Amino acid sequence: MCMLTDMMDYGAVLCEIAVELKEFEGKGKVPSYIPELAKVDPNQFGMCLTTVEGTRYEIGDSQVKFSIQSISKVLSLTIAINILRSDLWKRVGVEPSGNPFNSIVQLEYENGIPRNPFINAGAIVIADVLVSQLKRPKEEFLAFVQGITGSDIQYNEQVAQSEKSVGYMNTSLAYMMKEKGNLVNDVEEVLDFYYLQCSLEMTCVELAEAFRNFGETGKPFGHGEYILTMSQALRMNALMLTCGFYDESGEFAFEVGLPGKSGVGGAIVALLPERYCVSVWSPPLNKKGNSSKGMKALELLTTKTGGSIF
Ligand code: GLU
Repeated sequence: MCMLTDMMDYGAVLCEIAVELKEFEGKGKVPSYIPELAKVDPNQFGMCLTTVEGTRYEIGDSQVKFSIQSISKVLSLTIAINILRSDLWKRVGVEPSGNPFNSIVQLEYENGIPRNPFINAGAIVIADVLVSQLKRPKEEFLAFVQGITGSDIQYNEQVAQSEKSVGYMNTSLAYMMKEKGNLVNDVEEVLDFYYLQCSLEMTCVELAEAFRNFGETGKPFGHGEYILTMSQALRMNALMLTCGFYDESGEFAFEVGLPGKSGVGGAIVALLPERYCVSVWSPPLNKKGNSSKGMKALELLTTKTGGSIF
């Protein structure tokens, strides 16, 4: 193990990780519940680490686009927090759910108020907020994401349509919240926006760039009119740490020790505040819906560099 210093050779660490991950070949499965994602080549692997100063280290398929899926929930929440501020927490909680990402059980007995904004029900409420508050939700959300990454990020309409065609559970969650008075707009309209936001495509480099500024808590983060205050940025990190990995959030905090967010496209982004942001992409998922190799890669990273938030 080496100690974390500003002189850390992250490039060498990423190379070591790629070699050690070879024994994880074949673990996990690409998600089959979204037909378009089931077609992705499972052997791709990319990683990118960018320091807060902007020095970048990359390995493997770090410049290949993939579906960011649930990672988009952090970006939609950034805009919703800017608009509704503390009123937002009347409609969605900030507690880990301890349940799978698309679970409906808790939602019923907790009266349609999702546990947190990163499970599907919570993200659908956030999508409802953006549909209500933005004049042109699809265009404005995309412009925000392009603004924070400085890249030409786009939706993948085919992935969005594919998910919509089989989105029975998300439809059920949305109607349950509608019935309990926690969804204002038309269910179809909200879900169309939700599927589109999940279909955003980025590379590991773009993902690390998009989240780098969450780690610079002393600087304002955002784009255009949506800028997080320092306290809001700290709270986003708290939410990523406690709720970013569904019912594996405790495991990620325990093994990796960084705030982060995963998506069923196989990517994970995580950050060590004031030091670096790291993204990893490997499509096969474990049983909890998180990238098998990605989880291991980040565990190796914080073990080898000796740095976590604790
Ligand atoms: N669009 C996916 C869904 O609603 C997101 C899930 C994820 O990435 O974890 O099921």
